[in-house]
Amino acid sequence: MAEQGTPQYAFFDGSIVPMADAKISVMTHAFNYGTAVFGGLRGYWNADENQLFVFRPRDHFERFLESAALLRIRLPYSAAELASILNALLRAEQFHTNCYIRPLAYKSSAMIGVRLHDVDDACTIFALPFGSYVPDESGVHVGFSAWRRIDDNAIPARGKITGAYANSALIKSDALLSGYDEALVLNEDGHVSEASAANVFIVRKGVAITPPVQSNVLEGIVRRSVITLLRDELGLEVQERDIDRTEVYLADEVFLCGTGVQIAAVTQVEHRPVGTGAMGPITRQLRDLFFEVVTGQVAKYRLWTAPVYTAEAIRS
Ligand code: PMP
Repeated sequence: MAEQGTPQYAFFDGSIVPMADAKISVMTHAFNYGTAVFGGLRGYWNADENQLFVFRPRDHFERFLESAALLRIRLPYSAAELASILNALLRAEQFHTNCYIRPLAYKSSAMIGVRLHDVDDACTIFALPFGSYVPDESGVHVGFSAWRRIDDNAIPARGKITGAYANSALIKSDALLSGYDEALVLNEDGHVSEASAANVFIVRKGVAITPPVQSNVLEGIVRRSVITLLRDELGLEVQERDIDRTEVYLADEVFLCGTGVQIAAVTQVEHRPVGTGAMGPITRQLRDLFFEVVTGQVAKYRLWTAPVYTAEAIRS
């Protein structure tokens, strides 16, 4: 389990309140039927600048609103407004450490009845100090899950829908209880989709390959960032195409990426070493660059990071 702290506050019912006051009824529709959507963002503490940088909040909140739209959840906030609510919450928390941020939009009526229309909507955000999501980001051992990734025609795979995470939880627990750190999961076509809560890339003969957005992946913000960094900074060809299971066995490098796992090297697949069995050079270079970018140290990508403790943000 990740090292994690406790939130002091939450954005709940339109304002920032003590965490103890952010409570919902057991009859809440979303609790009963999984009719909520969520986001997951990270804030990175930069001690040299005394600054907390949130990674791509506008992109995260745009995807959050898209997920909400898929479940017919309407919120009275734009992505920009959600980003500024988040800033206020993080300033209330006064984090001087890395943190994880969880916005949720949910069907809030206390009622019985499975449907999406004519049910009230609500939104909450909380944040907590947070460390790594996987125990060792430099050497993850994965197996192929016996489960299949949810199909877009069953539950929209590109939406971050809480109910769909029963699929992720089945995948993750079976992987951990079988002695792996994570699992790769195939889609209904039998091609690689992603991990339980992270996107996947393989590197074969100097080309980086990741499943396309049509293969029931979550459209990851880190995935999108990694494609840019691999192409523009590491000079690699990046292909978005179906990946066969055996291509993973033969890959020179495999890595997972996402807000939780960050960039994690996969060094074993079903007891077979990936490449040399240690983190490969491309994954290492990408990982180093990624941590510089998310902590606001790369001028070219500074716009991907939103500083929390600015004079302007404090005034607003
Ligand atoms: N796939 C799934 C199923 C996820 O839950 C996540 C984490 N949000 C990702 C991929 C990675 O997405 P992101 O880079 O936006 O965190």
